[in-house]
Amino acid sequence: MAVGYDVEKWKYLRRVLERAGPFTDKDSFDASMVKEALKDVKILVIGAGGLGCEILKNLALTGFKNIDVIDMDTIDVSNLNRQFLFRSSDVGQPKATCAANFIKSRVPDVNITPHFCAIQDKDIDFYMSFNSIICGLDSVEARRWINATLVNMVDWNNPDTCKPLIDGGTEGFKGQSRVILPKMTSCYECSLDMLTPRQAVPICTLATIPRQPAHCIEWASILEWPRVKGDLKMDTDDPEHITWLYTTALKRAQEFGIEGVTYTLTQGVVKNIIPAIASTNAIIAASCCNEAFKLATNTAPFLNNYMMYTGNEAVYTYTFEHERKENCPVCGEQNEPTNVTIRKDVKLGEWIEELKARADIQLKRPSLMGLGKSLYVQQPPQLEEKTRPNLEKLVSELVGNGEEVAVSDSALPFSLRLRVLYE
Ligand SMILES: [Zn+2]
Repeated sequence: MAVGYDVEKWKYLRRVLERAGPFTDKDSFDASMVKEALKDVKILVIGAGGLGCEILKNLALTGFKNIDVIDMDTIDVSNLNRQFLFRSSDVGQPKATCAANFIKSRVPDVNITPHFCAIQDKDIDFYMSFNSIICGLDSVEARRWINATLVNMVDWNNPDTCKPLIDGGTEGFKGQSRVILPKMTSCYECSLDMLTPRQAVPICTLATIPRQPAHCIEWASILEWPRVKGDLKMDTDDPEHITWLYTTALKRAQEFGIEGVTYTLTQGVVKNIIPAIASTNAIIAASCCNEAFKLATNTAPFLNNYMMYTGNEAVYTYTFEHERKENCPVCGEQNEPTNVTIRKDVKLGEWIEELKARADIQLKRPSLMGLGKSLYVQQPPQLEEKTRPNLEKLVSELVGNGEEVAVSDSALPFSLRLRVLYE
């Protein structure tokens, strides 16, 4: 079996790599060296789902020889329409392992290592061993974690500790790819407030004049559920609960002459499911892999630093330089707390709900620490129980004007600092 780049298959790759170009170093360019450029590069792919399958295929066919892939998920039958490295016989198997096996069977000279675990299970030495990292994830939390981990790894005494992070993301017809050089360019956390939380429909529209099927479903879940079911917590995975919401929404839709309320739509609205589109994944993955190729070979300057793709109106992209946030809680040099103004009559529990919804915080299970004391802590359960009564107290009873509160989440390796100011 032929190994390396001498085989016919790679002749087009060699044409790119073995010619001097406007970005190559005029004095030291050596074609025989360059064709080896991709051989030693070690690249990590995080996520082997819709984007991950595309990314792995592209990397292997672009000539990368050392690829690791990490994913904690197993294959579900609903993945098969776009996650093309999987077959129905793979359902229930780990995505990382199946993806690696498939790639190996098609591109035998690739050395691909799967990791069936959470990214949090790997230590710094693991992440340190790669030249660059590509994320094809659908989770904000996982991205925040890997971003903060890579930023924390940077030690300027050793420039090799700065690992470029290429982040791809898609949502329906839209997507983005970006290149993050930890501590040098804007990081994932710097741009967190660009992710606007789901557009809320005003309650009055839901209550009085619904116009769309989704309005009727929102009405059933936001207004009717608590009114009829009282304290019963809605479980969006419970088919009985979804059926109740569906029939309630359907009745309302009929009253207003609105068509289109279905069981699947009900599930989609309450679980906030956005359909995945295979062509969006293909475009974003292609962009990510181009960036990985450019970073590895210096054949062209890499993306600076954010490419937005909107496929819902036309094939349209817009590239701009997202700037670093001076007080970014992860990469910021001046680590000043963010000022937050609140009313004196707000209870701690209400304030936590407000914080969870803020675009620049977006924590699922925040714990709050005041000056030397726990305000509300989610873990361990004993501490949660002990701090729970504080939820009913006013923030102004617990925190003095101008005092600092640290907000953390066990899923994130950093905390946010807020300075509380009363109106
Ligand atoms: Zn940052």
